[in-house]
Amino acid sequence: MNREDFSILKEQVHGRPLVYLDNAATSQKPQQVLDAIIDAYTHWNSNIHRGVHHLSQVATMHHEEARKAVAAFINAQSSDEIIFTKGTTDSLNALAFSFGEACIHEGDEIIVSGLEHHSNIVPWQMLCERKKAVLKPIPLHEDLSIDLAAFKHLLSTRTKLVSIAHVSNVLGTIQPIEEIIRLAHEQHIPVCIDGAQSVPHLRVDVQSLDCDFLAFSGHKMYGPTGIGVLYGKREWLEKLPPHEGGGEMINHVRWSGTTYNELPYKFEAGTPNFIGSYALQKAVEYMQSIGLEAIENHERELTAYCEAQLQTVEGVQIYAPKQPKAGVISFNIYNAQTLIHPFDIGTLLDQQGIAVRTGHHCAEPLIDTMGVPGTVRVSFGLYNDKNDVDTFIAALQKAIQILK
Ligand code: PLP
Repeated sequence: MNREDFSILKEQVHGRPLVYLDNAATSQKPQQVLDAIIDAYTHWNSNIHRGVHHLSQVATMHHEEARKAVAAFINAQSSDEIIFTKGTTDSLNALAFSFGEACIHEGDEIIVSGLEHHSNIVPWQMLCERKKAVLKPIPLHEDLSIDLAAFKHLLSTRTKLVSIAHVSNVLGTIQPIEEIIRLAHEQHIPVCIDGAQSVPHLRVDVQSLDCDFLAFSGHKMYGPTGIGVLYGKREWLEKLPPHEGGGEMINHVRWSGTTYNELPYKFEAGTPNFIGSYALQKAVEYMQSIGLEAIENHERELTAYCEAQLQTVEGVQIYAPKQPKAGVISFNIYNAQTLIHPFDIGTLLDQQGIAVRTGHHCAEPLIDTMGVPGTVRVSFGLYNDKNDVDTFIAALQKAIQILK
């Protein structure tokens, strides 16, 4: 799909045509996004919000138009609910600090799941340490799906927040977040969704999900690095204090104290990444021009095709096979009973021009549960096709022959 928009896909790696299957780590950028960045720096670069001069007003207009575009993309009620951050990690840290200051006290509990990325564990651990609160992971079934019965038992009057990945970055599995949100809301507990691996692949509608917060990264959805989003329902964002101080986030500063700006600026201290927000808007428009359903269908079909092809490889173990997935597959290869180290597979694939990721994928608690040193992970973007899968499978067979 639309491969011609991504010049990087024509690169050679070790003398072979690049096959890029590391999209869960970061996606490639279409020419439309690259052009937007050049255009911005060439024609209207200027600091936003403070200037009366023309360029500043143009830059401000672009930043605020980007906010509206992102709000529409996830169907937020208002663009005031969109806070630009550096990425998912930054969004979750901002929320952990701000929510923690306002709502977490000694003995309170925060629930995550057993398959989270470190970004959705460590900020909550740091908060819990600060506030003497308790972080509780939802256990997983043997098939690595979330144990919803156990989740129900974890919920109590002590629970102050549930924060959960929509799609696992290791397994690609789509989590039952609708049910999780419903169960939490029954007890008036807010829910934060880590959308790093879902927003680039699925239609995410914050109003129909009714999630209270959503975090995601621009660079995983064909946009640039250094820009991301924290969505929050207005009633929550109004209640929460800013997590950083500085310019832009203030109303008035006096020696006697400071009053804070209105939403969303209260949470955007300092010069925001206004070139990044503009380029993110172009990425959003790019995805919309293809259609979210078309992207989702294409990637679902490709994932199923790849999983079927992988099943034919001797000694393969695919994790969470057959569960609904969004563009990610993790596996290992066994030679008789012995695991071939994923790093060795990754290295031999790289020598054949195939980019995959190996290791713990920043989800060590999940990898520990799986009882392996890591996995090989292939992850798709809209531009991947069956040729990529066929080339990858042939290269994998070759790597296995060498390592046996
Ligand atoms: N959450 C999940 C599920 C992820 O996959 C990632 C990145 O891989 C992150 C959070 C962190 O994203 P970023 O590094 O863009 O902040």
